Amino acid sequence: MTDCLFCKIAQGELKANKAYSDDRAVAFHDINPQAPVHVLIIPTRHIESLLDMGEEDLELLGHLHAIAARLARELGVAEAGFRVVVNTNRDAGQSVPHLHLHLLGGRAMGWPPG
Ligand code: 5GP
Ligand code: ZN
Repeated sequence: MTDCLFCKIAQGELKANKAYSDDRAVAFHDINPQAPVHVLIIPTRHIESLLDMGEEDLELLGHLHAIAARLARELGVAEAGFRVVVNTNRDAGQSVPHLHLHLLGGRAMGWPPG
């Protein structure tokens, strides 16, 4: 999508501090981090939210989670613990309509989330 912020980051049209990329996914550090480690993992292809994932996307969904686990190890938060969050639609506070996994770590987190 031409006017999508995260599509532009995935295509390199907008700068981001990238932590990982391959042909299907890109990960980059959040511009407004909520934890010492806060990385966003997105599919390169524009998918608006979890609600738009079909049966054909299950492998991609697994791939995005595998990247989250890999980055948690690489960024040194795996052992202490980390959280992976996917905000979907208004009540969850999804502000960018391109599917993204938040990887958060480096501090103790509360439960339930606010
Ligand atoms: P959401 O609120 O949709 O779950 O998460 C969107 C996230 O994207 C927020 O944590 C926000 O800080 C981050 N974000 C918004 N715009 C940019 C940007 O231009 N660059 C980066 N790196 N992160 C962004
Ligand atoms: Zn997009």
